[in-house]
Amino acid sequence: MLPVDLHAHSNVSDGMLPPREVVARAHARGCQLFALTDHDDLRGLAAAADEAQRLGMRFLPGVEISVSWRKHTLHIVGLGFDPANAVLQAGLASVRLGRDERAVRMDAALAAVGVGGVLAGARKFADNPEMIGRAHFARHLIERGLAKDMKGVFKKYLARGKPGYVAHQWASLADAVGWIRAAGGVAVIAHPGRYEFGRQTMGELIEEFKAAGGEGIEVVSGSHHPADFERYARLAETHGLLASAGSDYHATGEGAREPGILPDMPPGPQPVWQRWHTDIGVTLPVAE
Ligand code: AMP
Ligand code: MN
Ligand code: MN
Ligand code: MN
Repeated sequence: MLPVDLHAHSNVSDGMLPPREVVARAHARGCQLFALTDHDDLRGLAAAADEAQRLGMRFLPGVEISVSWRKHTLHIVGLGFDPANAVLQAGLASVRLGRDERAVRMDAALAAVGVGGVLAGARKFADNPEMIGRAHFARHLIERGLAKDMKGVFKKYLARGKPGYVAHQWASLADAVGWIRAAGGVAVIAHPGRYEFGRQTMGELIEEFKAAGGEGIEVVSGSHHPADFERYARLAETHGLLASAGSDYHATGEGAREPGILPDMPPGPQPVWQRWHTDIGVTLPVAE
C-alpha cells in the first residue's frame, strides 16, 4: 500500500468530518503525506496543516476546483500552492458565488417533481453555507427515505439528466489551472475515469490542460475502478503527466475509500509527490 493521500474532503466542502479529524483519521491509518482538497475553498487548510504538524505527518495544501469544459463538469485538483495567494483566493470566491443560486434552482426543480422543501433540509448538512452542493442535497434525500444510499440518490435525482440536476457554469479550465499556477501549485486532472470520455476527447482534454500549464493526472483514486489504475498510468506516461493518488474520501460509509493509504501506483509514470518529497514511494536499492 501507498502511504500517500492527495485528495480528500472535510466539512469545509462536502465531507462530513472537520479538517482536523480527516487529518487524524488519515494519520491513524498510516498516512505519511496528506493533502486536504476541499471543493473550491481553502478554509480548512490552516487547521489541517496544524493538525498534521502536531501528529508529525507531512502535508500539502490542496483544493479541488469545479470546472466547466465543453458540455462537461470536470474537477481539477491543485496541490502544494501558497494558500495565502490572492489570485487563487479571488478565483475560488468567484466559483463559490454561483452555488447558492444553483441550490435554489435545484430546490425548485425537485419541488416540480413533487419533492418539496429540500433546500432547507440540505442546508442543515452544509456546515459551510457558501459551499452547499449536491452531496448535501443527497444526504437530506436519503434521510427522508427517498433513496437508500449516495449512489442511488445521484442515480435517481441528482446526476445529469435527473430531475434535481441543474446545469451550472463553473470556472474555465484555463482559469482553474492558471489560479493554481499563480499560487505556485501543481494542477492535476481529478478522477479521469469518472468522465467516461472516449480516447479522442480525453486526449484533447489533456492537450488543452497541458497548454494551460497543467502537469498531473490522478491514476490511483477512490473514484476509480482498480482496472482504471493501469489505464491512467499508461496515459500519464504517454502524455508526460505526473501521476497522483487520492482517496476522494468524503465520509465513512459513503463509498469510495477511507483516507490515508491507497493501493500502489503502477510502475511507469513519475509520482507527483516527488515534486516535494523524493523519499516517499520509492523502492530503495537493495544493498549488495
Ligand atoms: P457539486 O459540486 O455540488 O455538483 O457536487 C459534486 C459532488 O457530488 C462530488 O464531489 C461528489 O462528492 C458528489 N457526487 C457526484 N456524483 C456522485 C455519485 N454518482 N455518487 C456519489 N457522489 C457523487
Ligand atoms: Mn465531493
Ligand atoms: Mn471530484
Ligand atoms: Mn473530490
